[in-house]
Amino acid sequence: MNISQDRIDALRALLVRPSQQIVILSHTNPDGDAIGSSLAWSDVLTSMGHRVTCIVPNKYPYFLDWMPGIADVVIHRTDTEGRASRAIAGADIIFCLDFNAISRLENLSQELASNTTARRVLIDHHLSPVEEFDIAFSHPESSSTCFLVYTLIERMFGTDAITLKMAEELYVGMMTDTGNFAFSFLTPELFRAVAVLVEKGIHIPTLHNNVYNAYTEGRARLFGYAINRKMELIEDGTVAYMSLKENEMRRFQFQQGDSEGFVNYALTIKKVKMSAMFLAHRKFIRISLRSRGDVDVNLFARKYFDGGGHKNAAGGKSFLTMEETIAHYIRSVREFAEQGGLG
Ligand code: 5GP
Ligand code: MN
Repeated sequence: MNISQDRIDALRALLVRPSQQIVILSHTNPDGDAIGSSLAWSDVLTSMGHRVTCIVPNKYPYFLDWMPGIADVVIHRTDTEGRASRAIAGADIIFCLDFNAISRLENLSQELASNTTARRVLIDHHLSPVEEFDIAFSHPESSSTCFLVYTLIERMFGTDAITLKMAEELYVGMMTDTGNFAFSFLTPELFRAVAVLVEKGIHIPTLHNNVYNAYTEGRARLFGYAINRKMELIEDGTVAYMSLKENEMRRFQFQQGDSEGFVNYALTIKKVKMSAMFLAHRKFIRISLRSRGDVDVNLFARKYFDGGGHKNAAGGKSFLTMEETIAHYIRSVREFAEQGGLG
């Protein structure tokens, strides 16, 4: 990965003054990459003598609860003590990790617009960053933000700065964002980085087990229900979608993170090139999109669902009813196909 030396020098200069107040922000519905990169970057900055607060808009999935240090991450939605506001108001530097549009921070966006004069640094791997940052490390060619953070640490401090705890945090994001090393951007550098993490002492089977085999019984049964009863195929079996409404989620004691992986499953069907998941939230419907090969769901999400992400994994939202949202999806897929989007 080619990170500009000028930007690294600028970041180094920003961090020279000792004991600064630093905030690390990551995106709504934080995943393994968001949390792993935030914790590892926080560890580096703390070891430099800075005071760091990690903030996420809402709760991370329970299968990340085991991660050391995760209990210190401030969850803005349930932060009744105002820790997030205070940290943002007092921050010298704010790092935005694993997202590139302040609008993805929900209510935190307003806080960030009004409550701070801090310098802003982006460290992210999503396509098309839209916000202004003082320094931007925007690398869509990085398979995860954790790999980008690893590379930054290596360039700035050398791999000696990586502790076992940091190695575990970084591995979680590398593993989850690449679908366990099965998606795109699997470069030799990534596997060299993993080799270094193994040298630090990470135990890959344990980390894998902690993340992927830690679900509830309800989640397993919801998965069966979603695939069997809710998965629909259109466009001659090449496009899939499924939806879950709140009453269905309640029936299986749904917790944040339980639908992780559902949208990918339709792509195990050989003919399927694109898959969508519609998940009802209190105020809107969250859409997850996945695709194979040249089918660009980042483009699709931007055009039809006010979202974005990566070429083969993107998301968006809809403020229509579930039925209207699905009708809009079916119409949009048709138009997308007519314009050659499905190849
Ligand atoms: P997921 O389906 O796992 O929630 O998201 C897939 C990818 O799309 C992630 O990289 C995520 O950050 C991105 N993404 C999800 N929702 C949105 C959205 O509303 N806007 C943008 N720009 N990206 C999104
Ligand atoms: Mn990521």
